[in-house]
Amino acid sequence: MTQPDATALVPLGPGDAFVFACHAQAPCFNQCCRDLNQFLTPYDILRLKNHLGLSSRDFLDQYTTGHTGPQTGLPVVTLRTEGAKNFVCPFVSPEGCTVYENRPGSCRTYPLVRLASRDRNTGKKTERYFVLTESHCQGFDSDKEWTANDWVRNQGLEPFNQFNDIFMELIGLKAAAGPGPLDLKSQQVFRLACYDLDRFKERLEQGTLAACEGMGEKVLSKVLADETQLLHLAIRWVAHVLFNAPLVLDPKG
Ligand code: SF4
Ligand code: SF4
Repeated sequence: MTQPDATALVPLGPGDAFVFACHAQAPCFNQCCRDLNQFLTPYDILRLKNHLGLSSRDFLDQYTTGHTGPQTGLPVVTLRTEGAKNFVCPFVSPEGCTVYENRPGSCRTYPLVRLASRDRNTGKKTERYFVLTESHCQGFDSDKEWTANDWVRNQGLEPFNQFNDIFMELIGLKAAAGPGPLDLKSQQVFRLACYDLDRFKERLEQGTLAACEGMGEKVLSKVLADETQLLHLAIRWVAHVLFNAPLVLDPKG
């Protein structure tokens, strides 16, 4: 069994276990939601805006701030907290997380850190996990054992990880295209597809999205009826429009 020390990022092999339990009786309960710099992925935004019953545009306006990633040069979205000196998550309450069923992937992943990569030649994906200890977190004072796979299942992380991997491939295409931020028009295209999914859907319905004209009625109805397929298409579409990646319009393609 792997026992994390106070400061290290400890690698976790496939059969290794770690101990952890987070619960309302922990003296540190909610503390990790009060010192936040929370990046949101496209799938995080999809889940949160639906939880709150908001359009993607309204969610972005009310709860997020936009930046340009200093390393990627891509538009990134973070949860807006309450003032410069106060990094409290807008969704935390004395009873805990108010969006728990649809909380972001990074909230689910902690205390693990996941690194995934894909072999360019074989396409084979590998993932590695590490245990991250933070001094304020008392969740490690527990007897409850987990493997990484147990944790992923228990926290409902599978779809978050799948979409993160697709999004990371998009970031990889930008890295291969060169350093520096995107031009203004490309930033708008990226934001539309990755973050403003309801607007992307409207544009698809109106038939005003470049390169989607050849989509048949049957495929179009399938994509419009399922937001996860829509998000798949949106990320593939932006990879095609900005970085010339192949675009397969059938969601099963
Ligand atoms: S979304 Fe929920 S779990 Fe995540 S930081 Fe906010 S309150 Fe905490
Ligand atoms: S600091 Fe750790 S144990 Fe405490 S609430 Fe956060 S994750 Fe749970």
